[in-house]
Amino acid sequence: MTLINAKWQHRKQFDWDGVQYDVLTCEISNGVFQAAWVCLDCCEEGALAPSGKTVDEVLRLSRIGARVHHLLIHGCNVEVN
Ligand SMILES: [Zn+2]
Repeated sequence: MTLINAKWQHRKQFDWDGVQYDVLTCEISNGVFQAAWVCLDCCEEGALAPSGKTVDEVLRLSRIGARVHHLLIHGCNVEVN
């Protein structure tokens, strides 16, 4: 992970249409979290690591970013809630 020098924690892995994604989060300062996704199929990292006040919030935001990648690169639309 090269986004920033922080302690990234692996949070979850999910699978869309056989393409696997890893999602990592870290606490960048007191009470501010950042999330990043990595597509394991093409090893692309999310260009934008969203930040937010809870882990749940940044996980949700990172899924939205991964969804755009999935649509553009893998040509599949997925529902994200
Ligand atoms: Zn990909």
